Amino acid sequence: MALVKPLVLGNVKRLFKGMGYKKLPLIAGHKLLYTCNLRCKMCPFWRRKDEKLLSIDEEVKIMDSLKNAGVLFLGFEGGEPLLRSDIDQILMESNKRFHTSLVSNGWLLKDKVKKIEDYVDHVFVSLDGIGDVHDSIRGVKGSFERAVNSIKECKARGLDTSISFTLTKDNLNEALDMVRLAEKLGVTINIQVAYDYSTAERMSPEREKLREILVAYSKMKEGKEGRYIINSKDYFIAILNSWYGNLPWICKPWITINIDPQGRIVLPCYTLSEYSGSKKVWEVDIIKIWEEFDWEKYYSCNKCALSCYLEPSLFSWKNTGLVKERIIEPMINMIGH
Ligand code: SF4
Ligand code: SF4
Repeated sequence: MALVKPLVLGNVKRLFKGMGYKKLPLIAGHKLLYTCNLRCKMCPFWRRKDEKLLSIDEEVKIMDSLKNAGVLFLGFEGGEPLLRSDIDQILMESNKRFHTSLVSNGWLLKDKVKKIEDYVDHVFVSLDGIGDVHDSIRGVKGSFERAVNSIKECKARGLDTSISFTLTKDNLNEALDMVRLAEKLGVTINIQVAYDYSTAERMSPEREKLREILVAYSKMKEGKEGRYIINSKDYFIAILNSWYGNLPWICKPWITINIDPQGRIVLPCYTLSEYSGSKKVWEVDIIKIWEEFDWEKYYSCNKCALSCYLEPSLFSWKNTGLVKERIIEPMINMIGH
């Protein structure tokens, strides 16, 4: 039920309008801070110094602006969002307005889940391998065990929980085992391909090996194990077609609006702008910015395969049966890790 909460609240028209003739943001991702207690090799964010963080009032101003622009889904990420001592208040405010999700690295989650469980619809815990592989990518020993324990705790408390898994050059050998781990833990898994940010270690997977994994995932989607993978089969096919077959997808980054820790809008997408925003979201007219922005310039950009951008980009009104797979599920996958 959590997946469709905003729809049953009467937002169906808004959803359809946003996916149709008008370019409007439907999903929002907000980095609450850059600070993190882990040190992932491929991550540029923990390397940044946070300015003074926004107050609760400012966070509410962000939410009201997003709500007024018609956003339905808000996902919080970081850094590690649970490092904010007021995270429960932020989530509580969000939960009044949006379908609310949270991405955590799982280090603190087991202890803090009680504080937030009433205000989140979906929790993502990042896991980038099994045991030492995960710990080595994350840069902190013991992080795998803590993340798995957090997942178990979330599950035990009845929270909708998923693994967020980023394919890198260091974990391709475990790519399929990660799906089996999700099955064992009784949760789902969302898969991303690492993007090489300019200020982090280059960790994107080796090209040919990645192709094999993408083919294997698309086959898995046809069988029983595929139930645990949130990504659609077409997500994997689209990457294969574009990166290996010269058949690009049309990217529609306007569906997602990203807000940096200072409340600034990140355009056109958080990959290209490396999560650096310009204008404070509550000081501008989001709809006007969206109308005036030259989105067409990015139609042929296939540089990243973040599912929160790619899955909605694959949606077509010729196939409305895919609303859940292309729109609703990707909307909850605000993957910051
Ligand atoms: S990827 Fe996530 S967990 Fe890792 S350092 Fe960056 S913000 Fe922290
Ligand atoms: S493909 Fe990725 S990097 Fe390029 S415009 Fe789309 S979301 Fe941005």
